[in-house]
Amino acid sequence: MRPFVLEQPANIPAAIALASNFAAPDRPPTQSDMQFIAGGTNLADYMKLDVARPNRLLDLNRLSEPALRQIRVTTEGVRFGALVRMGEAADDKDVKLHYPVIADSLRLAASGQLRNMASLAGNVLQRTRCEYFREISWACNKGQPGSGCAAMDGFNRQHAVLGVSDTCIATYHGDFAQALIALDANLHVEGSGGAREIRFANLHRLPGDTPHVETGLAADEIITAIDVPAGPWTRRSRYLKVRDRESYAFALASAAVALDLDGNSVREARIALGGVATVPWRAREAEAVLHGKMLDEAMARAAAETAFADARPRGHNAFKIELGKRTLVRALLETRDMKV
Ligand code: SF4
Repeated sequence: MRPFVLEQPANIPAAIALASNFAAPDRPPTQSDMQFIAGGTNLADYMKLDVARPNRLLDLNRLSEPALRQIRVTTEGVRFGALVRMGEAADDKDVKLHYPVIADSLRLAASGQLRNMASLAGNVLQRTRCEYFREISWACNKGQPGSGCAAMDGFNRQHAVLGVSDTCIATYHGDFAQALIALDANLHVEGSGGAREIRFANLHRLPGDTPHVETGLAADEIITAIDVPAGPWTRRSRYLKVRDRESYAFALASAAVALDLDGNSVREARIALGGVATVPWRAREAEAVLHGKMLDEAMARAAAETAFADARPRGHNAFKIELGKRTLVRALLETRDMKV
């Protein structure tokens, strides 16, 4: 690992002041010489692999604002402080009762040790595990813009089939983000330009021609809180994750589903797909298929067909299309049958 300077600001204003001094405004946050660190479970990994090379780390763990570490569940929704650890949120009894899709997505992510270390805000900002991105000798447009993409004609079994471009097909591997995008979460963000709120759905960028630009955050902006609004669909919700082994593995396909039902008729459906797309993936067209319909297996399958209508496989990952459809069908039917 390369040497770096560690800064440990005491509060959010001090962190932003430092960040605005050292962040490179003309570069995306992940390419800046200064980077934020909280749990460090993703960034430290990439620093050891020499994929990330910050010369200054801004440690957020000493920030004194209590709200950064709190979970507040009210009738309006749930607010997670950015520094809440994944394990804490997964174990919170109110989150488990009122937002099971969130608790499931966190419980099924990573190992217990990682969940106890990783912050919620850091989790949504995790970078892809594309094997070619992780090994710097390969051509990779995300790591070295313009260098090419070794995954296109390489071993791409783990790669995405939705939201891909001609420059990058890397999968977004997070689980929590699927629950957040399905439930229309919002982010509170602060930086030298002030505080703002952004829709979670607008955080991640499709790769397009610039796969190295991964989010809409400025280099000196930090996420301070995540809001999930309440709704009649949140209790009947779940996250289904299919992977090569039952623990500590990324999704080959996953589905976050939340349903508001009148009997078996769908008043509203919320669907997000993981393991198959380059960004957290809301399947709005599939939701529209279900609206006002009786949810049976045939209707679930129709929604799944719609969800993957634009899928673009690339060799070894073609199996993800059928796997993704079956995952969604199962998730929809299991969510329908939940006792709430
Ligand atoms: Fe790099 Fe994306 Fe290609 Fe992977 S898929 S090698 S991250 S450009």
